[in-house]
Amino acid sequence: MTTATLSGACPECETDLTVPPVGPGETLSCPECLLTLRVEAVADGVLTLEAVEVQLRDWGQ
Ligand SMILES: [Zn+2]
Repeated sequence: MTTATLSGACPECETDLTVPPVGPGETLSCPECLLTLRVEAVADGVLTLEAVEVQLRDWGQ
């Protein structure tokens, strides 16, 4: 199970993103809307991304 890249979708503009392997807590930029996105989780090569600009704290972490 060698995953060369991870994929995800920008929560802001829904652009499909393909990025090098990253881990939870790391950030990357959407090439489309230039928003900074933080990796919330990685599951089976698919990223869950959260926009960093708006700091939602809906789930008391
Ligand atoms: Zn975007």
